[in-house]
Amino acid sequence: MSKKIKRIGVMTSGGDAPGMNAAIRAVVRACAYYQVECVGFYSGYSGMIEGKYEELNARSVRNIINRGGTFLRSARSAEFKTKEGRAKAAAQLEKAKIDAMVLIGGDGTFRGGQLFCNEHNIPVIGVPGTIDNDIFGTSYTIGYDTALNTVLSAVDKIRDTASSHDRLFFIEVMGRDAGFIALNTGIGAGAEEILIPEEDLGIDRLLNSLEKSRRSGKTSSIVIVSEGDKTGKNVFELADYVKKNLPYYDSKVTVLGHIQRGGSPTCFDRVLASRLSVKAVELLLDNKKNLMVGIKNEEIVTCPLDDVIKGKPSINKDLIRISEILSI
Ligand code: ADP
Repeated sequence: MSKKIKRIGVMTSGGDAPGMNAAIRAVVRACAYYQVECVGFYSGYSGMIEGKYEELNARSVRNIINRGGTFLRSARSAEFKTKEGRAKAAAQLEKAKIDAMVLIGGDGTFRGGQLFCNEHNIPVIGVPGTIDNDIFGTSYTIGYDTALNTVLSAVDKIRDTASSHDRLFFIEVMGRDAGFIALNTGIGAGAEEILIPEEDLGIDRLLNSLEKSRRSGKTSSIVIVSEGDKTGKNVFELADYVKKNLPYYDSKVTVLGHIQRGGSPTCFDRVLASRLSVKAVELLLDNKKNLMVGIKNEEIVTCPLDDVIKGKPSINKDLIRISEILSI
């Protein structure tokens, strides 16, 4: 017989993402709605290990749906990667009488959560919160849409100066292992070329494309480069390489960096966070565990954490084709 869930813990872990506050709020309010207690752990797995938590009620989460970041704070915990660290966390949960946990985070958070659930038989449900959208089992992660719009608004501004001075801009966006942000913002911003980790389009292709554009009368260009792009060169090396080979281009580099993580979440991210997090609580109350909630074709779905961890989300290759057609 499964234990009746009377007290649920929630935490945010790994890289922060806009919409995490909306997710916490939805967990807390769903708990209040279903009349179970809710406890917020501070700083991800570190707070679980140290027993740093606070009782949360429906009013504790007022005025946060619109705020970026996470009021529970986030952290990376090396200790949780050890069996002993996870045992300490389990002991703290027992002391705090926590029956189950909602884990809001990314791939690493779910790896830890899955081990924790298996080792200590504490039910966990994962809610995908990361700007990179690099999670298997969901079409969208919380924070991704906001990050796309932040990047787009920055690139639009850079385009103004690029076109005023006939310049070539290399803009680095986040995405060490996944090109979702680069590919989608590249198309949305009308970039000349998009370099992503998933595909090696080759550096010579970039030169050819820039050369072709110049001949066709383009005077300024934007190249979007994902942090982990496959050319093996970072954005500064790429710009140098192009400068050496196409000296007529006045090349500049912009690294957007952490601006992409911040800001007020878009409506899409707030609604997604709300839907996923209510479902996470409902699944726990239904005695489900070791799952992640996601969204596919507008429907809320679940995926075993085991599959989430092993799977690799794939980019839509058609977007590469579209970008090629449109950058003519
Ligand atoms: P994200 O969840 O955004 O991918 P991280 O990869 O930094 O971020 O993971 C967040 C935390 O999850 C780590 O600091 C660590 O405590 C825990 N974690 C990550 N990978 C593992 C693992 N293989 N085993 C146990 N815990 C892990």
